[in-house]
Amino acid sequence: MTATPPLPSARERAVFCNRTLNLRAIGAIGYDMDYTLVHYRVAEWEAAAFEHARQLLARQGWPVDGLRFDPAAMIQGLIVDTELGNLLKVNRFGYTVRGVHGARPLEFDEQRRLYGHVAVDHRQPRFAILSTLFSLSLASLYAHAVGLFDQHRLPGVTSYADLLHRVRCAVDDVHHQGALKAEILAHTDRLIDPDPEISLALLDQRDAGKKLLLITNSEWSYTRQIMGQAFDRHLPAGTGWRDLFDVVIVSARKPEFFTSQSPLFEVVDEEQGLLRPASGALEQGRVYHGGNASLVENKLGLGGDQILFVGDHFFGDVHATKSGLRWRTALIVRELEQEIDAVAGFAPRQAELTALMARKESLEHRHCELRLALQRAQSGRAKRTRSDLDRARREIGALRMQIEALDDQIGPLAKAAGELSNPHWGLLMRAGTDKSYLAFLIERFADLYTARVSNFALATPFRYFRAARVPLPHDGAGDDGEPAS
Ligand code: IMP
Ligand code: MG
Repeated sequence: MTATPPLPSARERAVFCNRTLNLRAIGAIGYDMDYTLVHYRVAEWEAAAFEHARQLLARQGWPVDGLRFDPAAMIQGLIVDTELGNLLKVNRFGYTVRGVHGARPLEFDEQRRLYGHVAVDHRQPRFAILSTLFSLSLASLYAHAVGLFDQHRLPGVTSYADLLHRVRCAVDDVHHQGALKAEILAHTDRLIDPDPEISLALLDQRDAGKKLLLITNSEWSYTRQIMGQAFDRHLPAGTGWRDLFDVVIVSARKPEFFTSQSPLFEVVDEEQGLLRPASGALEQGRVYHGGNASLVENKLGLGGDQILFVGDHFFGDVHATKSGLRWRTALIVRELEQEIDAVAGFAPRQAELTALMARKESLEHRHCELRLALQRAQSGRAKRTRSDLDRARREIGALRMQIEALDDQIGPLAKAAGELSNPHWGLLMRAGTDKSYLAFLIERFADLYTARVSNFALATPFRYFRAARVPLPHDGAGDDGEPAS
């Protein structure tokens, strides 16, 4: 028997598994394009989107001259509270762990007053979650606009919800109008963050017998240029990106694509992008526009659990796909690379923090025991001599001082842990010691998640991804092995 080849060692290149998935049982793999097959330099792309939307709002009379996009100001997974105009980071229970109002961070007391009794839930109309890198410009523009609204400088805007609606319309418009995309296409060398190994991952999967699909919300003219730029130079001579895919669908309108019966069109003139209604059956080598997921299932003759869809947009690519169709899902989360790196770099200080917290917990426990002893003595349920009680009070005083001294050490470490990866918001996937709201959604709806598509080349098309045994609070330190069967 030959030795098992080592699995990729760098954690940031791993494919992580929430729900067991055997790639050998997958017959087709669908891919999203933007921020999945093609990664952009986020700061530049979003700065361009911000600037186009800012100019559009300026033309509508908003006093937005001089506003600039700050790439560190926002992260994916934040939740907009449209009632109060705040942006929130929330944990998996819906509790707010930090927030901003415009440019101002919420004070601890204010945050507790506003959100101490509110379980934030993205399904309520009051809240909106940012679930793609494309929403960073929207969030940044909204935060600026909140400041202007508070100063009564946006006549006609009636509420923070109306404000979000107007900013969102501006951002939608610039995505749909030609100028932003034309600017992106004029600077693809600067804006696309190349990854030649993605072609290899797709070629491996195709050679292993998987059907490959491209299902993007981008329009045809943009898709063909971006895909050509990103892929053609990395493919075998004489072939192009079109040869990789059995099905190409543009302007797909995900997530409705996965739930609707939208009509299918064919792009008949690829230069001009002219459309005509398609007969219904998808054919290889043609480019389709719109349509819906059941057409794809019919064409492939595969059931939902034999199709894996890979995308970066939690709602566009993963949520409806999983909940409606039960397709298998993989979410691309590029920030993971930076987060894993930041957490690894912090490991020695994290160990220090964990040790200090363990010490604090044991002191607190002793403090609780002594308080209870005093309480019982006072209520006559336990007999204690006066000197016992004096000793207990002295020990309580000493413990308080020790705990305060520990807090002085814990405070800066906990603050640094909360600023990992992003100084304002910390890690995408964590909220304090708990999972973030986004991490909770990802766990629920994404079978796999990874930082980039090329990590599937390292995983191989034959990989059996097994979900790790999930620890429960009552598990003991040695309880993580499976019982022998
Ligand atoms: P996909 O990720 O390949 O499905 O394509 C995403 C497409 O949606 C791109 O063409 C984006 O320009 C577009 N897009 C992203 N965010 C927004 C938005 O907020 N409003 C409208 N279009 C958007
Ligand atoms: Mg995408």
